[in-house]
Amino acid sequence: MTEANELIDLRSDTVTKPTEEMLQAMLEAELGDDVIDVDPTLEKLEILTAEILGKESAIFMPSGTMSNQIAIRVHCDRGTEFLCESECHIHHYEQGAYAQLSGLVAKTIYSTDGSLRVADLQDCISPENEHFLRTSALCLENTHNRWGGRIQPQKDVLEVCSWAKSHGLSTHLDGARLWNAAAASGIEPSELAAPFDTVSVCFSKGLGAPVGSALIGPKNFIAEARRARKLFGGGMRQAGVLGAAALYALENHRNRLCEDHAHAKQIGEACGQSQSLRVREERIDTNIILCDVEPTRGTAQDLVRSLEEQGLKCLPTGKQSIRFVTHLDVSQSQADRACDILRAI
Ligand SMILES: *Cc1c(COP(=O)(O)O)cnc(C)c1O
Repeated sequence: MTEANELIDLRSDTVTKPTEEMLQAMLEAELGDDVIDVDPTLEKLEILTAEILGKESAIFMPSGTMSNQIAIRVHCDRGTEFLCESECHIHHYEQGAYAQLSGLVAKTIYSTDGSLRVADLQDCISPENEHFLRTSALCLENTHNRWGGRIQPQKDVLEVCSWAKSHGLSTHLDGARLWNAAAASGIEPSELAAPFDTVSVCFSKGLGAPVGSALIGPKNFIAEARRARKLFGGGMRQAGVLGAAALYALENHRNRLCEDHAHAKQIGEACGQSQSLRVREERIDTNIILCDVEPTRGTAQDLVRSLEEQGLKCLPTGKQSIRFVTHLDVSQSQADRACDILRAI
């Protein structure tokens, strides 16, 4: 296909292909068996990830979902509840795995902008009384996927986590796109991670690795997470071949995320100029553009179909909402062409 008629895929930042250099790193990776003892490449990745996030230890995971679910399972005793924002990935997109696999309940809290504040949480801890579940943890998400890649205000995060600690709750951050939050805010990943006991990050989203996430936290917690990962079928033996791609991405693809954010702003402006779309609250913090579809112009599904016919792929996120996500494989000329298509609809 020539560049002019090649599909522009903005459904997600998970559609990227490994670069030549990344493939070379995979070919050259030193491998072992991570289930018997060690895979040296994974070990290197885990040490570097823990260091970047300023925590003791890290463990490679096959997916962000498994990483989150294992974190919650290890934090919470069976038959307890954890607090989370109602649109978060852990609750919305993971099949209620915490209930299915770990006997846990999510107490979801509505927010008006994707962020929780101490005032929203005051009455959320169940009293010590046989009518109620015990409340054991709090989970946040940064950046927030369903709220259009919003960055959590660090001041609120600090207040909420210190409130959680003072009430004996463990804290977990779903940081699938923490790298985007760090690049856009200029705050170091370690500072964003500091208020939390554990953090999950993805290598397969903005960083462009084909597979993999990591769970990061205290050494004894990660040892328990390693047991749970084997239980969940996530122990991967010669996984250094995947770890090498993640390591390459971690070392080389964090600084370029600003390009994705610039493309997102550009595409957001084009959406604003179209007759059919409105950027939700006209806000784009990172690499996700969340748009509401004018009801007079049909449904999200209609629009997604018509955009695809013109060579632009995106995802519906509701009956009248769609999203575009920029990533490593979106060139400047593709971003320009996406804008032309969007302005014209
Ligand atoms: C994608 C995503 C995950 C899960 O990652 P998978 O690797 O697809 O399981 C978790 N949290 C957030 C916020 C995500 O966007």
